[in-house]
Amino acid sequence: MRKIENLDNILRQKGLRATAQRLMICDEINKAGHIEIDNLYENLKKQIPSLSLATIYKNMHSLVKKEIISEVNIKGRKTIYEMTTESHIHYICTECGVIEDIAFDTMALVDKISELSEKNITDCKLTTFGLCTNCAN
Ligand SMILES: [Zn+2]
Ligand SMILES: [Zn+2]
Repeated sequence: MRKIENLDNILRQKGLRATAQRLMICDEINKAGHIEIDNLYENLKKQIPSLSLATIYKNMHSLVKKEIISEVNIKGRKTIYEMTTESHIHYICTECGVIEDIAFDTMALVDKISELSEKNITDCKLTTFGLCTNCAN
């Protein structure tokens, strides 16, 4: 888990008002590392009982658009959200489904693939699979 400091600064730099709801959403995602919107909603509902799922979706939409939050799409699973951090790849446990981050400069790989294929690659998301430390023991 990566701790992101100064959430309100990050929001303002990206041109979004640092509303209480946005800060709470980011804080919750930051704490969780990777989270589905249903779990996010459940956690936030405990803090703000009046919160609606539609409000979360609306806020998430602008946070994703501003690249403060990233969507993680894994085949067969609901969309997972994480704070946008430095380039990394995902390591998913085939037993319990836990998602771990592995620090990795994907863009270096993209440069190499672009060179080999002579294609203009704009994005690359890598997902790796194996057993997490818990399940391996
Ligand atoms: Zn596991
Ligand atoms: Zn991640």
